[in-house]
Amino acid sequence: MTSLFDLSGKTALITGASTGLGRGMTLGLAAAGADALLVDHVASGAVADEVRSLGRRAVSLTLDLAQSGSAALAVEAAVREFGKVDILVNNAGIIRRTPAMDFTEKDWDDVMTLNARSVFFLAQAAARDMRKRRYGKIINIASLLAFQGGIRVPSYAASKGAVAQITKALANEWAAEGIGVNAIAPGYMATNNTKALREDPARSGAILERIPAGRWGVPEDLQGAAVFLASAASDYVTGHVLVVDGGWMAR
Ligand code: NAP
Repeated sequence: MTSLFDLSGKTALITGASTGLGRGMTLGLAAAGADALLVDHVASGAVADEVRSLGRRAVSLTLDLAQSGSAALAVEAAVREFGKVDILVNNAGIIRRTPAMDFTEKDWDDVMTLNARSVFFLAQAAARDMRKRRYGKIINIASLLAFQGGIRVPSYAASKGAVAQITKALANEWAAEGIGVNAIAPGYMATNNTKALREDPARSGAILERIPAGRWGVPEDLQGAAVFLASAASDYVTGHVLVVDGGWMAR
């Protein structure tokens, strides 16, 4: 049974790996046996050291994924360093909090470019390598705002709706190539992304009150879902958006 979740010999490319959910999933995949290419626009060397302390290989790449052409550079680096990409975790994402009436074109474009456009083109670049072995696992990080509208985060909600639809569109095309494409929709997790919410006593209290688990999530809460979707355990699962939210969506 354990071998179903074994990632020994696999290479994972994780974006936004220096902190938060990206760091948590990187360490989960490494604990299951995967080597890791960590991509971020800030240094991720400390997380690479944590991966090595688990006995796996790790390489850090500093790259702005909002730039055109960055997807190809990331996948080329993984192939150069490890020979292949087996697992892609499309995790890097940003949020802009402003009422819709005042929302700027820049805040729209910045969020859509990283959260939706780069997710598609990274998946495309990784799949071009995965198809050579007729095997690959793509995990896109969506959000509860793939289902709900959120408050004062219109471009973020639009981008995460797009992530869910990109996931299904690619799953349809690539199942026959042996490539699984799924998404994780995290609930409210304690990271930099939610710092403003957690510092607002009214919003923070209202959010906590609705979570049946009675606590905010932490990055480690995504490790099981990430390992499942990265491993042979999910070989007949594709096009799925897996909610990991302490029960929020059940309310
Ligand atoms: P986070 O702590 O802000 O981490 C995001 C990472 O992505 C950071 O390392 C960030 O670097 C990096 N990044 C930002 N822009 C980038 C760019 N242009 N190129 C490369 N890397 C870039 O966020 P998180 O909470 O871990 O979120 C990770 C993912 O989960 C995101 O897609 C987010 O939307 C999603 N999510 C989070 C929650 C939550 O409650 N936290 C809930 C649902 C979904 P900097 O720190 O330097 O900007």
